[in-house]
Amino acid sequence: DPRLQGISDAIRVVPHFPKQGIMFNDITPLLLRPGVFKDAVDIFVERYRGMAIAAVAGIEARGFIFGPAIALAIGAKFIPLRKPKKLPGEVISETYVLEYGTDCLQMHVGAIEPGERVLIVDDLVATGGTLCAAIRLLERAGADVVECACLIGLPKFKECTWLHSLQIASERWTD
Ligand code: 5GP
Repeated sequence: DPRLQGISDAIRVVPHFPKQGIMFNDITPLLLRPGVFKDAVDIFVERYRGMAIAAVAGIEARGFIFGPAIALAIGAKFIPLRKPKKLPGEVISETYVLEYGTDCLQMHVGAIEPGERVLIVDDLVATGGTLCAAIRLLERAGADVVECACLIGLPKFKECTWLHSLQIASERWTD
């Protein structure tokens, strides 16, 4: 797909952010180029349109940039999966392990109906811990998770059947 090169060119890699040794993939330059931003959304929409997806679940924070655009285009509802203490209603929570410590994703009770087909959206998968927590959270609520969609994946997820990523980041860690 010729659009993929433009997407790749619009992602900036920032060494040692947010800490020493991390190659951070910054997607904000892509957002400044409406044609490229649209290409990225369109590629996902072309893949997921017609798959009877009832809901797109976006992961805080960058899943909130791409998720709603995809949801509107495929006629699905949008569900924000948020960090703790952000949602005002009754929530269901899923805790996951990070490199140092733990984190948690929450969703409003009632956001999803049992059996609904859901697409999970985020900008990047690194260890996969966040996406796995999102899958567990949605499945506990009875959802049928169709796939996870990310702009950027890592080589180790290349053969992964539950993840679709547009770009493969060559490196994440510096030495
Ligand atoms: P994981 O749980 O797969 O280790 O980390 C993925 C989560 O961390 C995603 O929610 C993603 O937004 C964020 N993240 C980690 N590293 C990066 C990065 O280099 N660039 C961006 N844009 N997000 C990152």
